[in-house]
Amino acid sequence: MLPFRKNIAEMAGYVPGFQPDDSGWIKLNTNENPYPPSPKVVEAITAELAGDGASLRQYPDAGSKEARQVAAEVYGVDPAWVIMANGSDELLNNLIRAFVDAGEEIGYVHPSYSYYATLADIQGAKIRTFGLTDDFKIADFPDRYQGKIFFLTSPNAPLGFGFTNDYIADLAQRCDGILVVDEAYVDFTAETALELVTQYENVVVTRTFSKSYSLAGMRLGLAIARPEVIAALDKIRDHYHLDRLALVAATAALRDQAYLQSTVAKICSTRDWFSDELRQLGFGVKPSRTNYVFAEAPAGDGKKVYETLLNAKILVRYFSDPLLAHGVRISIGTREEMEKTLAVLRELD
Ligand SMILES: *Cc1c(COP(=O)(O)O)cnc(C)c1O
Repeated sequence: MLPFRKNIAEMAGYVPGFQPDDSGWIKLNTNENPYPPSPKVVEAITAELAGDGASLRQYPDAGSKEARQVAAEVYGVDPAWVIMANGSDELLNNLIRAFVDAGEEIGYVHPSYSYYATLADIQGAKIRTFGLTDDFKIADFPDRYQGKIFFLTSPNAPLGFGFTNDYIADLAQRCDGILVVDEAYVDFTAETALELVTQYENVVVTRTFSKSYSLAGMRLGLAIARPEVIAALDKIRDHYHLDRLALVAATAALRDQAYLQSTVAKICSTRDWFSDELRQLGFGVKPSRTNYVFAEAPAGDGKKVYETLLNAKILVRYFSDPLLAHGVRISIGTREEMEKTLAVLRELD
């Protein structure tokens, strides 16, 4: 018997969305961006590899200084309030390591991002989930929530709605611990909780480059929090942290806000058109503030929709969870990909 910690031996591990290894799929299952990253990102990576790639011999800047500086300019904060990461998942993990001991509690909304639970399992932390009311508020949130971290996915995944800042501010005041606002999809909407980071001591905002910046393959994320929190996260992270290519990619992507805005605008307009088309086919679609929609099947059978699309080599996300099994989550691709998806859905009986 190998001496695993009990919680590691017992935990299941997270199952990410399927990544097919042959081509020919329309991939609408992991909320990737259908457009390439900014050409400036490709230029920066190419420049970093210039000549014989000699720069790779040397360790990267351990503190990701330039990327933090540029992020701070973009988000209007001091660089001491920013940390970079290899994907926002790394930050969620390190926040738990910073604030939650084995046996202590984290909370989150169900349905939202279940990876919080996996990370809590690794730490041996307890997990408490809260449901949603029909008008998308958290059901039975206590006057004082005593868990060490509450993770709020806003906009929500997989349902696509956003919480208002007034609502998030109220939650922040009711949390004795940290309120992490996971803004993985916030670039697709207007309202961000960033200003709450300066107003409430316990608010942390996390962001990813995987969706709006088209850089899922680079593994890039960042957090904005007060300097004491950033300093703790700096102690926990790997000391040589982001690799050289990720660092130049992050910096170039952040500097090209015009490109970000243009791809986001295309995706939002495709999303709104696609949502209307789905409604005309009898699907229930709530307005989405993200780059995906949750489509409730006319016959209430999400699995059948998933399988019908799968047969046509179109991948969407089906969740067997009883709260979600009546629909599928469909990432917004190009207009052409969504036309093809609709063509298959029109044949659904
Ligand atoms: C995609 C996603 C993440 C992970 O982002 P990475 O930067 O790719 O690790 C975190 N939270 C939510 C809600 C997501 O959808």
